[in-house]
Amino acid sequence: MFVEVATQQVKPSQTCPECGHQEKKTLPDRVHNCVKCGYVADRDVAAAQVMLNYAKGLGANLDRCGLA
Ligand SMILES: [Zn+2]
Repeated sequence: MFVEVATQQVKPSQTCPECGHQEKKTLPDRVHNCVKCGYVADRDVAAAQVMLNYAKGLGANLDRCGLA
């Protein structure tokens, strides 16, 4: 199954997968280090987790609509 993530809305690379706090990163920032909850992960890993959470939420929405 393929889920397209609306990156303009979700901003996976700037969102904390743990608490959802958004903070702008510049490209040289390779590590996600959340100022709010202290979660630390490689930025690509964190971005993947954000997209996974988004996909799971989308799955729940699809269930509710009877599309899944
Ligand atoms: Zn956080």
